[in-house]
Amino acid sequence: MDKFELQKLRDLPIEGVAERLGLRVTRHKCLCPFHDDHHASMSFKVSKNTFRCFVCGASGGVIDLVMRYLGKDFVEACRWLADEHNVILSDNIKVLREVKPVKPFDASRYERFFERSFLSAEARHFLFEERRIDPRVVRWCRLTSWTDRQGVPWLQIPYYNKEGKLIGVQNRNLVRGATPRFRFPQGAECSIYNLPVLNLLKPGDELYITEGASDCWSLLSAGHKAIAIPSATLLTKKDEELLQTLDSSPNGGRLGGGFSFHMFPDRDEPGERLFLQLQKVLPTLVHHQLPPDCKDFSDYYLKLKRD
Ligand SMILES: [Zn+2]
Repeated sequence: MDKFELQKLRDLPIEGVAERLGLRVTRHKCLCPFHDDHHASMSFKVSKNTFRCFVCGASGGVIDLVMRYLGKDFVEACRWLADEHNVILSDNIKVLREVKPVKPFDASRYERFFERSFLSAEARHFLFEERRIDPRVVRWCRLTSWTDRQGVPWLQIPYYNKEGKLIGVQNRNLVRGATPRFRFPQGAECSIYNLPVLNLLKPGDELYITEGASDCWSLLSAGHKAIAIPSATLLTKKDEELLQTLDSSPNGGRLGGGFSFHMFPDRDEPGERLFLQLQKVLPTLVHHQLPPDCKDFSDYYLKLKRD
């Protein structure tokens, strides 16, 4: 593939590519697939053929969008684009030298941050006053905080696998309304959140599935067992398989747990869409309706705390 061919791929209209990926573009905007988005935070600049999410900071061109959305490397993304748009590439695609290797997530650089939790005043305010999260939940989730060189306070959220190994880190900006709201270290694999809770499941238990970590903390604080998925569009094949191994319906139940799955979908279209998507993987998933004045479980939890 030569420079000329690569340019042909880069020049494919980005909104068309996004739609081909399954994103719904309206007036140069769409729901960002790279974070839990409900307000069409991703916008397209047609003149530059680029995308940018003002919440999570994801940005780039046509090839970046495909790489990130489909989890492909540079060459695979180019092949996908070429196939989808009938662009004929020469065979020597392997000689391509533009590939920037993505470094895998280096857990050893982050583990020590979570050994002893430090919560800044901003983090304590956010967790305990704004969200009324139970301190035991904060300890269980090993939440900690830090302040970057610009003085911006961040909440640092570790992702562990079921065996307790650190697999990813998510940073949440604690300045209200600031962007980007989330940041991920390079290579961090933020798939299903709070997997260690699976080790505590007993027959007859209810397992709640939430969208995003903060609803998960509210459910845990309300005394439930819960895991979170980062966003519907980030649910990978691997995550789906993991959920299926937990399924205790007659067809599933490899763990033979006998527990049931529950969800309070967010009161909006993406929330309901996520429920339907999860129900395909977990046919026994139980739908719980939030009251009309609560947009998500965190809202509902605060209301319960007030009443
Ligand atoms: Zn985003």
